[in-house]
Amino acid sequence: MTLFDSPAFEGHEGVHSIFDEKTGLKSIIAVHSTARGPAAGGCRMWPYPSAEAALEDALRLSRAMSYKNAMADLDLGGGKAVIIGDARTMKTPALFEAFGRAVDSVGGKYWTAEDVGVSPVDLMSARRHTRYVAGLEGHAAASGDPSPVTAEGVFQGVKLSVRRALNRDLDGVTVAIQGVGHVGAYLAEKLHAAGARLILTDVNEDALAQVAARTQAKVVAPGAIFDAEADVFAPCALGGAINAQTLPRLKARVIAGGANNQLADPEIGRAIFERGMLYAPDYVINGGGIINVAGEIRALERGEAFDHAWVDGKLARLRDTLEEVLDRSTTERRPSHEVANEMAKARIAQAAAEKLAA
Ligand code: NAD
Repeated sequence: MTLFDSPAFEGHEGVHSIFDEKTGLKSIIAVHSTARGPAAGGCRMWPYPSAEAALEDALRLSRAMSYKNAMADLDLGGGKAVIIGDARTMKTPALFEAFGRAVDSVGGKYWTAEDVGVSPVDLMSARRHTRYVAGLEGHAAASGDPSPVTAEGVFQGVKLSVRRALNRDLDGVTVAIQGVGHVGAYLAEKLHAAGARLILTDVNEDALAQVAARTQAKVVAPGAIFDAEADVFAPCALGGAINAQTLPRLKARVIAGGANNQLADPEIGRAIFERGMLYAPDYVINGGGIINVAGEIRALERGEAFDHAWVDGKLARLRDTLEEVLDRSTTERRPSHEVANEMAKARIAQAAAEKLAA
């Protein structure tokens, strides 16, 4: 299959393959869309089995960033970088300096940030050769850990979803959270403070015990979370939590959590809808993290300090967007993920048309 035939290619503006002989850097920077602004999305370092697999991932992830940024109402397009290699053994400052030069060669069309396998320290190395880096630490524009902001957006989304599906507030509602890492732990604390009852799981038993103690939660084994007697299921671990095996086991009426790629495939989104469950599309409800990063890009571009009030405004807007998705899903009798995809595409197409007309 050639690049242009790949189903993931779908309208990409550009794909840049970079090889640096001295450091061994092999990187792909995919720019899906700059219609709404410069493409923004993190850099993932992963030991891909082949260049084709890396390309496929870069394309898929960069398109997803276009959709996420559009639904978060950011003046940013979508892009993503991948570095082929094992983050545990192959990272060097020189490798990330070479990556910084690669980002710079795209001429400001792409802003990079953290993703799996890449830390703020790595980004500091990249920053020596490009200014198009967000997610740094220790300067006035820095946005810091995005997880609390992601969790706040998810919390607001859970509250909204519960109001719509169960016609009640969070007090006394039972929420099952899969994964109490950065996002899941903050979410658990917010839900606990709002009076929700919690059922938690994680493969990391220490983290699980700590969060459960703080939130008076019941703990279950990772495999048992799908059978929990809960009103809400909140996936906050890895992707693919909702699949043909797990969906029939869920008793919750609401699926709303922070994880990316919660649906194993688009058909499962239709199955959720047909079961009469409310699904808050993952890339809408978890947009708080990219809003936080966008706040840093905005501050860097303007030469200003990070503006928390701007972030709060965007979070409020994100909640309204989720409400619009759920409204349309109800009135049009269509799965919410289909509505969200359509809205994201329309927002990108409108920005592209306005750009062309200007
Ligand atoms: P994290 O690594 O801190 O937390 C994930 C947790 O899930 C870990 O504690 C891990 O032990 C646990 N886990 C993994 N597999 C599990 C399983 N099978 N069963 C139960 N627990 C399991 O990551 P995070 O930053 O909290 O992100 C969580 C999810 O949210 C990811 O899908 C991430 O892509 C998404 N997300 C995060 C942010 C953010 O701001 N951090 C923003 C948007 C989306």
